[in-house]
Amino acid sequence: MSVAKQLYQLQEVDVELESVEQALSQTASQLGESQAVVRTQAELRSEHEHLEELRRQQHSAEWELDDLVNKLAAAEEQLYSGRIKNPKELTSLQHEVEGLKARRDQLEDKALEIMSQVELAEASVTTKSSALKRLEAEWHSQQQQLSAEMERLKAIVSELKQKRELLAANIDPKAVEFYGELKKQKGTAVAKVEQGTCRGCRISLSTAELQKARGGSLIQCGSCGRILFLP
Ligand SMILES: [Zn+2]
Repeated sequence: MSVAKQLYQLQEVDVELESVEQALSQTASQLGESQAVVRTQAELRSEHEHLEELRRQQHSAEWELDDLVNKLAAAEEQLYSGRIKNPKELTSLQHEVEGLKARRDQLEDKALEIMSQVELAEASVTTKSSALKRLEAEWHSQQQQLSAEMERLKAIVSELKQKRELLAANIDPKAVEFYGELKKQKGTAVAKVEQGTCRGCRISLSTAELQKARGGSLIQCGSCGRILFLP
């Protein structure tokens, strides 16, 4: 086998290796925290806090209402007991009862309003919780898939590295070194020759160049400097 062909085979392995390594690093970059999960967790926390605050308000409104209802009952009991004869006192008590009733109505409205807010907040927490569970499950299965994919790619990388080592061991070390330098400079070190043209730069080769390449000697394209490989 000509050195050019050996180097071309080495290059094919290198190209595959690079593409698998790129896929591996891309996969690795997808591992880790999910922005959507983190964001939803934060939203859920703040909705929980909001709900707790509303529940506190609800309890304090209910206590206040209880207290007022007791006061009103006591005032009404006194008003209708017949124990108070003084008309001035009775009128003042009457006013007190009316004031308490008005305040009670206000508080009842307020308590109802808070209750409906609590219900809304509870529904919102429930919805957000199930959205979070769904996202977490998705994320978990995605992470598992990514881990499995990484294992698969790592195995391919190590296979290709072995293959490369075996190939390189059978090539003249000087040629491998030259290939490496050319690869650094040009990205692609070996160019196929097709229909008398270098596929690296698409320029037609001279008859002399073609003859040399056909002979199997290691020659470079006169235009782009790549190693020529005639299949
Ligand atoms: Zn060329």
